[in-house]
Amino acid sequence: MGQVQGVGFRPAVYRLAVQLNLTGFVYNDTSGVTIELQGEETKIAEFIKRLNGQNAPPLADIESCFAAEIPIVKGEKEFVIKQSDACAASLSGGVTPISRVTADIATCADCLRELFDEKDFRYRYPFINCTNCGPRYSIIRTIPYDRPNTTMSAFAMCDKCAGQYHDVANRRFHAQPVACPQCGPKIWLADNKGTKIQADSDKTITQTAQLLREGKIVAIKGIGGFHLAVDALNDDAVKQLRERKKREHKPFAMMADSIETIKQHAAVSKQAEKLLKSPQSPIVLLPKNAGSHIASSVAEGTNTFGFMLCYAPLHHLLFAEGLKVLVMTSGNISDEPLICKNDEAIERLGEIADAFLMHDREIYRQVDDSIVHLIEDKPVLLRRSRSYVPAPITIKQTSQCDVFAAGADLKNTFSFVKGNQLICSEHIGDLEDAAVYHHYVKSIEHLRGLFEVRPKIVACDLHPAYLSSQYAHSLPDVKIIEVQHHWAHIAAVMTEHNIDEPVIGLACDGTGYGTDGAIWGCECLIADLNNFERFGHLSYYPLAGGDAASKQPVRPTLALLIQAYDKEFDLGKLQWLLGPIEPDKTKQEVICEQIRKKVNTVQTSSLGRIFDAVAAMLGLGNYNHFEAQLPIALEAMAAADCNQRYDFELAGQSDKQLILDPRIMVRQIVADIKNAKEHNIIAAMFHNTVAAGLLEMAKAARKAKGLDKAAISGGVFCNRYLAERLILLLKKAGFSVLYNRDFPANDGCVSVGQAAIAIKLAARDE
Ligand SMILES: [Zn+2]
Ligand SMILES: [Zn+2]
Repeated sequence: MGQVQGVGFRPAVYRLAVQLNLTGFVYNDTSGVTIELQGEETKIAEFIKRLNGQNAPPLADIESCFAAEIPIVKGEKEFVIKQSDACAASLSGGVTPISRVTADIATCADCLRELFDEKDFRYRYPFINCTNCGPRYSIIRTIPYDRPNTTMSAFAMCDKCAGQYHDVANRRFHAQPVACPQCGPKIWLADNKGTKIQADSDKTITQTAQLLREGKIVAIKGIGGFHLAVDALNDDAVKQLRERKKREHKPFAMMADSIETIKQHAAVSKQAEKLLKSPQSPIVLLPKNAGSHIASSVAEGTNTFGFMLCYAPLHHLLFAEGLKVLVMTSGNISDEPLICKNDEAIERLGEIADAFLMHDREIYRQVDDSIVHLIEDKPVLLRRSRSYVPAPITIKQTSQCDVFAAGADLKNTFSFVKGNQLICSEHIGDLEDAAVYHHYVKSIEHLRGLFEVRPKIVACDLHPAYLSSQYAHSLPDVKIIEVQHHWAHIAAVMTEHNIDEPVIGLACDGTGYGTDGAIWGCECLIADLNNFERFGHLSYYPLAGGDAASKQPVRPTLALLIQAYDKEFDLGKLQWLLGPIEPDKTKQEVICEQIRKKVNTVQTSSLGRIFDAVAAMLGLGNYNHFEAQLPIALEAMAAADCNQRYDFELAGQSDKQLILDPRIMVRQIVADIKNAKEHNIIAAMFHNTVAAGLLEMAKAARKAKGLDKAAISGGVFCNRYLAERLILLLKKAGFSVLYNRDFPANDGCVSVGQAAIAIKLAARDE
């Protein structure tokens, strides 16, 4: 069992059996791989040993291996690969697996060796790939995953490539994107109007590298879309890119030539190194090194760098020209979907890029680079896209009919369930952007076909104004199940960890629609997949100005100050603190009036907005130019070795919800700022207070309910400082702690939780 399909497992088994003179057969089905072998006993033992060792294909992940003796099969002369489909259908009762599409995989070691081997006929070929690596999901139009159904259908294989493709003993046996310089896609360099300026493959590479060395911005077409690349050591060039891309603040990801280079700029743990070099080749967030000379404009206001290694042959060729570190940011306009078509790139990125490194292998599905960070030195996904999608996960319950879960509006993903298989889409983005919403709808339609699902049950968020909810409600002939946002978060963690028993759920984020119409955001839930109870939460405070409140920290700041000082609140006396956050005193007064008179305000328990307020009071900025900009800056500021905290109150009667009250903390923070206490200590103490408050809520829930499993989720836990601190406190207090790892803790996991709850509720209602 494990990942054995679509990874060249059967050919690898075949090669091994032939080497050891064994006869028999191998086939795949939904439950795994079955191998029958005849031959000398020592050879069979050797076969099993090697299969579990270095002879397994690089992408195979063997979970378990069982062996049993069977009677001799007469007349068996050779080893064969049996057709899987016939076997699969007969063995699984005709149920087809949800996905036979695998993810895009970084160039493997064998292909890399051939790429730089002068004697190989694919020497310096930018599209070299094999069964173990190369594009998959990004090039497939429809199933089954065969060449005519991919964007490689435009290229007829030459005899040499076809020979390898049909040779079961070859590493390229049935590798659909197989190609060579004779028959496959080609690269060229174009100016910013799209005019070809270089068509020779090698010269295109050297010329592109030269442009980058000169500080030019080059749009490079990759696996899942275009990147905008610029020399990461050249501050002027990076600033130029920021100016032209109109992205002044959000940190840029980088690609480096080697792990050694990355180590010069960031702290790379063993686990991080493994992750960077993995076949998924994600962007890994790493603590910055003090001595790094990366241009300061690459990632200001954060203590991490996002690094990845080359994952396409084209990247390897480019960096082989002597480049060290490039900014490689998504080729899109602001937060729109990634651009992946050549003409669209010229039209939309022509004002940003000085040149285009193009190719003619069409990208059918755009997939962003995945982002991972390490919590407790274990990989945790922050954005799940390239190379992770569309791998399905096996869930505990089996759904009687197909399910679609629409997800949340921010950092959207959606999910499908068929039987006990769940597929979560790649990161789609924020649906409030019209282009992203359009992409969302198109993607649902496309993937519904690709995974052959016909959903009868549709799960969505409880929020009536969510575009994803409205989309769900527009679908005909389906049963709609609305799921509370934070419950979905906790259910996502439970689903990942395959548990279905009540847990103490701590869900913390910026906004989520509550069952009482308030905006929740710091919740202690007693939850399973059937139901949840709101056991406790952060006390409500009034947030003025709707959507503006998540951008302008003056709004939560004033709400918290009015609440904390009550009758003693004096706007005039707080100008030393508020002035830098909102210089316009009239605006401050208007917001205060709104809060006092409850005009255009919502009640909220949002923890995200408290992070915004504290960051703003510490002078870290007065606007969130991108989601969580201020909280990220606050985390970066926090002193690592501080264990002090502020005070808080936990109040509640036995029949009522427990309320976490931050008023004392707010007053203490204001006093500390006034007394010029070091800001990094204040930031750390704030984080520690939040962790301590959540711990106390969990303890109260344990005492009341006798549960000791704590599940944590929500965008606030993308904050590594807070997540690690809380996990440590919970573990020390005897809890077993579950958190998101395979899906992001932010709203990227919501569709997974929605789907799991919907299956349960639909079964219950029957
Ligand atoms: Zn390969
Ligand atoms: Zn060829």
